[in-house]
Amino acid sequence: RKLGYAIVGLGSYGLGVIIPEFAHCQHSKLVAVVTGDAAKGKRVAAEHGLGANAVYSYARFDEIRNNPEIDIVYVCLPNSMHAEYTIRAAKAGKHVMCEKPMAISVAECEAMIAACRKADRKLMIGYRCHFEPFNLEAMRLARSGAAGKIRYVRTEHGFTQGDPSKWRLKRALSGGGSLMDMGVYSLQAARYMTGEEPIAVTARESTDRNDPRFREVEDMIEWNLEFPSGAIAGCQSMYSANQNHILLMGDKGRIELEPATRYSGNHIWTGKDGRERELTPPPGPGVTQFAGQLDHLADCIVAGREPIVGGEEGLRDMRIVEAIYRSAREGRTIRLDGRA
Ligand code: NAD
Repeated sequence: RKLGYAIVGLGSYGLGVIIPEFAHCQHSKLVAVVTGDAAKGKRVAAEHGLGANAVYSYARFDEIRNNPEIDIVYVCLPNSMHAEYTIRAAKAGKHVMCEKPMAISVAECEAMIAACRKADRKLMIGYRCHFEPFNLEAMRLARSGAAGKIRYVRTEHGFTQGDPSKWRLKRALSGGGSLMDMGVYSLQAARYMTGEEPIAVTARESTDRNDPRFREVEDMIEWNLEFPSGAIAGCQSMYSANQNHILLMGDKGRIELEPATRYSGNHIWTGKDGRERELTPPPGPGVTQFAGQLDHLADCIVAGREPIVGGEEGLRDMRIVEAIYRSAREGRTIRLDGRA
């Protein structure tokens, strides 16, 4: 049978992006929604052929435990709510897909992993790029030595923020600014493209605090990661321009993606010295990256395997995120390998 997902949070991602993707899934289906807006819940349930008992309010969330149709809870809420709903889902006996960033602190990530482990439930982070054909092709090319030894990585992600009252610009709900949102793509890409774990980070931030959008959270932040091989990544995120770019420079050429991590329409080039050519990557594991991601967790549950982007992967990123903020604040390099 297809495993059943309950989507928590019917916002632009949960409702606008994820729910339509069940049409492309082979091993997963939508069985319930959790929303603060009962009318919206009723409408979505009707559109997808779900019964009235498939709509839960946040107050009734824990009652999901009594619904055997729900195998997986997908947390599509503001960042500060990820930990609470992941832990409550695990306590209700459900596996969890949690959106990025995993949470807003290392301590929260650790509590989420512990709760899922205690309940013997799987935890996966919504790192969709691991199911996205252009990113998979770039990883394959980098690992196969197509660009030689990777010496430098450049990753840039951002989108322009508007309304200052939105949760992304409220620290209590977002946990931070562009780094917590688009910066996670820059950080993730530097790690999955090199296949290495950084040993040190040096960061600086630039934010116009008079801009009403950025009273509480950072606009632009830039950080360098040093890797054991000697490779360096220059990573950046911002909330005052649209950008979406990954560049890998090796001693034999380059691999470049732009846009790199969008929902669709990504591009990849490889080659050297102005003779780069555009590639068409082979299909990814799903019809779309989202379907590949949704089905991966279902497959892991059935097969008793760990997801390729489990809670530990989110925790690794959050440790580096905390170090990036600390480096920017203290104006010094922070070691990540325990050395002084
Ligand atoms: P959104 O604002 O569009 O939706 C958030 C949802 O949470 C809304 O339905 C809102 O009603 C609900 N909500 C519940 N309590 C709330 C509260 N106290 N304040 C505000 N909203 C509350 O946001 P989104 O863009 O859908 O983002 C949701 C999560 O998904 C975030 O963690 C974000 O980082 C992640 N996301 C991931 C991707 C991706 O490509 N993987 C893309 C977009 C968003």
